[in-house]
Amino acid sequence: SASLQNKKVLITAAGQGIGRATALAFVRAGADVVATDINEQALASLSSEAGVTTRRLNVLDDAEVKAVVAETGPFDVLFNCAGFVHAGSVLDMKDEDLDFAFDLNVKAMVRTIRAVLPAMLEKGDGTIINMSSVASSMKGVPNRCAYSVTKAAVIGLTKSVAAEYVAKGIRCNAICPGTVESPSLQDRLKAQGDYDAARAAFIARQPIGRIGTPEEIADLAVYLAGATYTTGQAYAIDGGWSL
Ligand code: NAD
Repeated sequence: SASLQNKKVLITAAGQGIGRATALAFVRAGADVVATDINEQALASLSSEAGVTTRRLNVLDDAEVKAVVAETGPFDVLFNCAGFVHAGSVLDMKDEDLDFAFDLNVKAMVRTIRAVLPAMLEKGDGTIINMSSVASSMKGVPNRCAYSVTKAAVIGLTKSVAAEYVAKGIRCNAICPGTVESPSLQDRLKAQGDYDAARAAFIARQPIGRIGTPEEIADLAVYLAGATYTTGQAYAIDGGWSL
Protein backbone atom coordinates (compact mmCIF):
# COMPACT_ATOMS: atom_id res chain seq x y z
CA SER A 1 0.00 0.00 0.00
CA ALA A 2 1.06 3.61 -0.61
CA SER A 3 2.93 5.52 2.08
CA LEU A 4 0.96 7.97 4.19
CA GLN A 5 4.11 9.92 5.03
CA ASN A 6 3.25 13.65 4.93
CA LYS A 7 -0.26 12.97 3.65
CA LYS A 8 -2.79 15.41 5.06
CA VAL A 9 -5.87 13.85 6.61
CA LEU A 10 -9.15 15.48 7.68
CA ILE A 11 -11.19 13.54 10.26
CA THR A 12 -14.66 14.45 11.54
CA ALA A 13 -15.84 13.34 14.99
CA ALA A 14 -12.24 12.74 16.06
CA GLY A 15 -12.86 13.67 19.70
CA GLN A 16 -13.67 10.16 20.91
CA GLY A 17 -14.34 6.58 19.86
CA ILE A 18 -13.37 5.39 16.37
CA GLY A 19 -12.54 8.90 15.12
CA ARG A 20 -10.04 9.50 17.90
CA ALA A 21 -8.39 6.09 17.46
CA THR A 22 -8.16 6.76 13.72
CA ALA A 23 -6.51 10.15 14.23
CA LEU A 24 -3.81 8.46 16.35
CA ALA A 25 -3.41 5.60 13.85
CA PHE A 26 -2.92 8.01 10.94
CA VAL A 27 -0.29 9.91 12.92
CA ARG A 28 1.54 6.63 13.64
CA ALA A 29 1.46 5.95 9.88
CA GLY A 30 3.27 9.25 9.30
CA ALA A 31 0.34 11.42 8.22
CA ASP A 32 -0.52 14.98 9.29
CA VAL A 33 -3.98 14.94 10.85
CA VAL A 34 -6.55 17.70 11.24
CA ALA A 35 -8.79 16.25 13.94
CA THR A 36 -12.18 17.94 14.19
CA ASP A 37 -15.20 17.53 16.45
CA ILE A 38 -18.10 19.60 17.76
CA ASN A 39 -16.86 18.79 21.28
CA GLU A 40 -13.76 20.89 21.97
CA GLN A 41 -13.21 19.30 25.36
CA ALA A 42 -12.92 15.86 23.74
CA LEU A 43 -10.52 17.27 21.15
CA ALA A 44 -8.29 18.78 23.84
CA SER A 45 -6.90 15.34 24.66
CA LEU A 46 -5.50 15.15 21.10
CA SER A 47 -4.05 18.65 20.84
CA SER A 48 -0.75 17.71 22.49
CA GLU A 49 -0.11 14.85 20.02
CA ALA A 50 2.65 15.57 17.50
CA GLY A 51 1.23 15.55 13.97
CA VAL A 52 -2.28 16.51 15.09
CA THR A 53 -3.98 19.86 14.56
CA THR A 54 -7.36 20.22 16.25
CA ARG A 55 -10.29 22.38 15.15
CA ARG A 56 -13.84 22.68 16.44
CA LEU A 57 -16.15 21.69 13.59
CA ASN A 58 -19.90 21.12 13.64
CA VAL A 59 -20.52 19.12 10.47
CA LEU A 60 -24.16 20.25 10.43
CA ASP A 61 -22.93 23.75 9.52
CA ASP A 62 -21.88 24.11 5.88
CA ALA A 63 -20.19 27.49 6.44
CA GLU A 64 -18.06 26.00 9.25
CA VAL A 65 -17.09 23.03 7.05
CA LYS A 66 -16.01 25.39 4.26
CA ALA A 67 -14.10 27.66 6.64
CA VAL A 68 -12.17 24.83 8.34
CA VAL A 69 -11.23 23.24 4.99
CA ALA A 70 -10.20 26.62 3.56
CA GLU A 71 -8.00 27.26 6.59
CA THR A 72 -6.45 23.81 7.12
CA GLY A 73 -6.63 22.13 3.65
CA PRO A 74 -5.91 20.94 1.01
CA PHE A 75 -6.30 17.30 2.01
CA ASP A 76 -5.11 13.98 0.59
CA VAL A 77 -7.48 11.94 2.76
CA LEU A 78 -10.94 12.63 4.19
CA PHE A 79 -12.37 10.35 6.87
CA ASN A 80 -16.05 11.11 7.43
CA CYS A 81 -16.59 9.55 10.85
CA ALA A 82 -19.37 11.71 12.36
CA GLY A 83 -22.60 9.85 12.91
CA PHE A 84 -25.39 9.34 15.43
CA VAL A 85 -27.38 6.27 16.46
CA HIS A 86 -31.13 6.82 16.67
CA ALA A 87 -32.80 3.94 18.52
CA GLY A 88 -36.25 2.93 17.32
CA SER A 89 -38.44 1.17 14.77
CA VAL A 90 -40.16 2.73 11.75
CA LEU A 91 -43.19 3.32 14.03
CA ASP A 92 -41.16 4.88 16.85
CA MET A 93 -39.32 7.20 14.48
CA LYS A 94 -40.63 10.72 13.95
CA ASP A 95 -39.96 12.68 10.75
CA GLU A 96 -37.68 14.96 12.77
CA ASP A 97 -35.63 11.95 13.95
CA LEU A 98 -35.11 10.82 10.36
CA ASP A 99 -34.32 14.37 9.21
CA PHE A 100 -31.72 14.78 11.96
CA ALA A 101 -30.16 11.38 11.27
CA PHE A 102 -30.01 12.19 7.56
CA ASP A 103 -28.45 15.59 8.23
CA LEU A 104 -25.71 14.26 10.53
CA ASN A 105 -25.09 10.82 9.03
CA VAL A 106 -25.39 11.64 5.30
CA LYS A 107 -25.60 15.34 4.40
CA ALA A 108 -22.62 16.17 6.62
CA MET A 109 -20.54 13.80 4.47
CA VAL A 110 -21.80 15.53 1.33
CA ARG A 111 -20.72 18.88 2.84
CA THR A 112 -17.18 17.75 3.65
CA ILE A 113 -16.79 15.95 0.30
CA ARG A 114 -17.87 19.10 -1.57
CA ALA A 115 -15.36 21.10 0.45
CA VAL A 116 -12.31 18.84 -0.05
CA LEU A 117 -12.91 17.29 -3.48
CA PRO A 118 -12.04 20.26 -5.77
CA ALA A 119 -8.46 20.38 -4.45
CA MET A 120 -8.16 16.58 -4.69
CA LEU A 121 -9.30 16.73 -8.33
CA GLU A 122 -6.84 19.52 -9.06
CA LYS A 123 -4.07 17.29 -7.74
CA GLY A 124 -5.52 14.19 -9.47
CA ASP A 125 -5.16 12.30 -6.20
CA GLY A 126 -7.32 11.83 -3.13
CA THR A 127 -9.13 9.27 -1.04
CA ILE A 128 -12.37 9.49 0.90
CA ILE A 129 -13.49 7.04 3.58
CA ASN A 130 -17.07 7.18 4.83
CA MET A 131 -18.31 5.63 8.06
CA SER A 132 -21.30 3.39 7.41
CA SER A 133 -22.33 0.35 9.48
CA VAL A 134 -23.32 -3.27 9.05
CA ALA A 135 -26.75 -1.94 10.08
CA SER A 136 -27.46 -0.51 6.61
CA SER A 137 -28.15 -2.17 3.24
CA MET A 138 -25.88 -4.98 4.51
CA LYS A 139 -28.04 -6.31 7.31
CA GLY A 140 -31.47 -5.63 8.77
CA VAL A 141 -31.22 -4.78 12.47
CA PRO A 142 -34.24 -4.22 14.76
CA ASN A 143 -34.59 -0.93 16.66
CA ARG A 144 -32.26 0.90 14.23
CA CYS A 145 -34.58 2.22 11.51
CA ALA A 146 -33.40 5.83 11.01
CA TYR A 147 -29.83 4.69 11.58
CA SER A 148 -29.94 1.89 9.00
CA VAL A 149 -31.72 4.08 6.42
CA THR A 150 -28.98 6.70 6.69
CA LYS A 151 -26.06 4.24 6.85
CA ALA A 152 -27.41 2.56 3.68
CA ALA A 153 -27.44 6.01 2.08
CA VAL A 154 -23.76 6.38 3.02
CA ILE A 155 -23.00 3.30 0.90
CA GLY A 156 -24.95 4.84 -2.01
CA LEU A 157 -23.03 8.10 -1.62
CA THR A 158 -19.75 6.17 -1.49
CA LYS A 159 -20.47 4.27 -4.71
CA SER A 160 -21.68 7.41 -6.48
CA VAL A 161 -18.53 9.38 -5.65
CA ALA A 162 -16.34 6.37 -6.50
CA ALA A 163 -17.96 5.89 -9.92
CA GLU A 164 -17.93 9.59 -10.76
CA TYR A 165 -14.22 10.14 -10.10
CA VAL A 166 -12.55 6.74 -10.50
CA ALA A 167 -10.65 7.88 -13.61
CA LYS A 168 -9.57 11.13 -11.93
CA GLY A 169 -7.42 9.71 -9.15
CA ILE A 170 -10.10 9.76 -6.46
CA ARG A 171 -11.07 6.65 -4.44
CA CYS A 172 -14.02 6.45 -2.08
CA ASN A 173 -14.80 3.51 0.22
CA ALA A 174 -17.07 2.85 3.18
CA ILE A 175 -16.35 1.12 6.49
CA CYS A 176 -19.16 -0.99 7.98
CA PRO A 177 -18.42 -1.96 11.59
CA GLY A 178 -20.36 -4.25 13.85
CA THR A 179 -20.50 -3.25 17.51
CA VAL A 180 -17.44 -1.28 18.60
CA GLU A 181 -16.39 -0.09 22.07
CA SER A 182 -16.91 3.69 22.32
CA PRO A 183 -18.32 6.31 24.71
CA SER A 184 -21.62 6.37 22.83
CA LEU A 185 -21.83 2.55 22.99
CA GLN A 186 -21.47 2.85 26.77
CA ASP A 187 -24.35 5.37 26.75
CA ARG A 188 -26.50 3.01 24.66
CA LEU A 189 -25.78 0.10 27.02
CA LYS A 190 -26.59 2.19 30.12
CA ALA A 191 -29.81 3.44 28.49
CA GLN A 192 -31.08 -0.17 28.29
CA GLY A 193 -31.46 -0.26 32.10
CA ASP A 194 -29.65 -3.55 32.84
CA TYR A 195 -26.12 -2.73 31.66
CA ASP A 196 -24.68 -6.26 32.07
CA ALA A 197 -27.59 -7.89 30.23
CA ALA A 198 -27.40 -5.31 27.43
CA ARG A 199 -23.66 -5.83 27.06
CA ALA A 200 -24.07 -9.62 27.01
CA ALA A 201 -26.74 -9.28 24.28
CA PHE A 202 -24.46 -7.05 22.16
CA ILE A 203 -21.59 -9.53 22.55
CA ALA A 204 -23.88 -12.47 21.74
CA ARG A 205 -24.70 -11.03 18.29
CA GLN A 206 -20.99 -10.87 17.42
CA PRO A 207 -20.11 -14.47 16.44
CA ILE A 208 -16.44 -13.74 17.15
CA GLY A 209 -17.43 -13.49 20.82
CA ARG A 210 -16.53 -9.93 21.71
CA ILE A 211 -17.11 -6.26 20.90
CA GLY A 212 -14.60 -4.69 18.48
CA THR A 213 -12.07 -2.03 19.48
CA PRO A 214 -11.79 1.44 17.93
CA GLU A 215 -8.17 0.60 17.08
CA GLU A 216 -9.28 -2.34 14.92
CA ILE A 217 -11.52 -0.01 12.89
CA ALA A 218 -8.78 2.64 12.74
CA ASP A 219 -6.40 0.09 11.20
CA LEU A 220 -8.89 -0.51 8.37
CA ALA A 221 -9.24 3.25 7.75
CA VAL A 222 -5.45 3.61 7.50
CA TYR A 223 -5.28 0.57 5.22
CA LEU A 224 -7.98 1.99 2.90
CA ALA A 225 -6.21 5.35 2.70
CA GLY A 226 -3.23 3.59 1.12
CA ALA A 227 -5.05 0.78 -0.71
CA THR A 228 -4.59 2.14 -4.22
CA TYR A 229 -6.59 -0.52 -6.12
CA THR A 230 -9.92 -0.43 -4.28
CA THR A 231 -12.80 1.99 -4.68
CA GLY A 232 -16.56 2.06 -4.22
CA GLN A 233 -16.56 -0.82 -1.74
CA ALA A 234 -18.31 -1.26 1.60
CA TYR A 235 -15.94 -3.06 3.98
CA ALA A 236 -17.58 -5.07 6.75
CA ILE A 237 -15.49 -5.25 9.94
CA ASP A 238 -17.95 -6.80 12.30
CA GLY A 239 -16.73 -9.90 14.16
CA GLY A 240 -18.80 -12.06 11.83
CA TRP A 241 -22.15 -10.31 12.50
CA SER A 242 -23.03 -10.16 8.80
CA LEU A 243 -21.99 -13.78 8.11
P1 NAD B 1 -19.12 8.18 19.48
O1 NAD B 1 -20.54 8.02 19.01
O2 NAD B 1 -18.81 7.76 20.86
O3 NAD B 1 -18.65 9.68 19.27
C1 NAD B 1 -19.23 10.47 18.28
C2 NAD B 1 -18.46 11.77 18.17
O4 NAD B 1 -19.16 12.58 17.19
C3 NAD B 1 -18.39 12.59 19.45
O5 NAD B 1 -17.05 12.98 19.69
C4 NAD B 1 -19.27 13.81 19.12
O6 NAD B 1 -18.85 15.00 19.77
C5 NAD B 1 -19.13 13.91 17.62
N1 NAD B 1 -20.22 14.68 17.00
C6 NAD B 1 -21.53 14.61 17.27
N2 NAD B 1 -22.22 15.52 16.55
C7 NAD B 1 -21.30 16.17 15.79
C8 NAD B 1 -21.39 17.24 14.87
N3 NAD B 1 -22.57 17.81 14.56
N4 NAD B 1 -20.25 17.68 14.27
C9 NAD B 1 -19.05 17.11 14.56
N5 NAD B 1 -18.91 16.10 15.45
C10 NAD B 1 -20.03 15.65 16.06
O7 NAD B 1 -18.14 7.43 18.46
P2 NAD B 1 -18.25 6.01 17.74
O8 NAD B 1 -19.22 5.12 18.44
O9 NAD B 1 -16.87 5.57 17.55
O10 NAD B 1 -18.94 6.34 16.34
C11 NAD B 1 -18.25 6.99 15.28
C12 NAD B 1 -18.88 6.59 13.96
O11 NAD B 1 -18.84 5.17 13.82
C13 NAD B 1 -20.36 6.98 13.81
O12 NAD B 1 -20.60 7.38 12.46
C14 NAD B 1 -21.09 5.69 14.11
O13 NAD B 1 -22.36 5.62 13.51
C15 NAD B 1 -20.13 4.69 13.49
N6 NAD B 1 -20.31 3.33 14.01
C16 NAD B 1 -20.11 3.07 15.34
C17 NAD B 1 -20.32 1.78 15.79
C18 NAD B 1 -20.14 1.44 17.25
O14 NAD B 1 -20.57 0.35 17.66
N7 NAD B 1 -19.53 2.28 18.06
C19 NAD B 1 -20.71 0.78 14.92
C20 NAD B 1 -20.88 1.07 13.56
C21 NAD B 1 -20.68 2.37 13.13
